[in-house]
Amino acid sequence: MQHLVLFDIDGTIMHSSGAGRDAMEHALAATFGTPGDPAIRYDGKTDKQIVREAMRHAGFSDHDIDSRMGEVISLYVSGLPARLDDPKRGVAMYPGVATLIEAVHQRSDSVLGLLTGNVESGARLKLASVGLDFDQFRVNAFGSDSEVRGELPAVAHKRMVDVFGVTLRGTDVVVIGDTPADIACGRSLGARAIAVATGSYSVEDLRGHEPHAVFADLSDTDAVLAAIVG
Ligand SMILES: [Mg+2]
Repeated sequence: MQHLVLFDIDGTIMHSSGAGRDAMEHALAATFGTPGDPAIRYDGKTDKQIVREAMRHAGFSDHDIDSRMGEVISLYVSGLPARLDDPKRGVAMYPGVATLIEAVHQRSDSVLGLLTGNVESGARLKLASVGLDFDQFRVNAFGSDSEVRGELPAVAHKRMVDVFGVTLRGTDVVVIGDTPADIACGRSLGARAIAVATGSYSVEDLRGHEPHAVFADLSDTDAVLAAIVG
């Protein structure tokens, strides 16, 4: 194994068409009495970080937020399936993603994984909603592992040792994501960041954060594979 290839989910693998945000706002309203400021961005953040930032902004203390964190995340996850499965939303994978994931999956020198701010149960529901097999992602780090995205690459790196008994160099860890936070999160590990502009950030925005490579989308399988393993 020479590469651990970690995919972000929202904005990278798939477009959830507001399903996640809507589920979170309903959970926040039910738990805290407010859905939070609609201007607060969700992309690039972990689920718990979203709760904390939105509710701090609404005036809640960290003590209040921590005491209700379990409840709000549980409500959020229970509200996801109906929203993800709503045909009016058009939840879908981006062009080329299924082909790229399959191509990485087939390589003997690479292990597929997820590095996402989603809690694990939410990640499972989102991948299922677009027909992706969760179990092909062997080494993962979720928002349920840490509220801080910057800690997630190290979680995945350690799981690689636990699952395969293999210690990779940091530079053999590849993080594929759609936000500056995805690019930044692996820096302390020396991970290779591949940015994709299918989320809310443009190619130019992302390039300014100096990823190893940046793509408009992931449809050029050979070019993306070359950036992953080259
Ligand atoms: Mg994302």
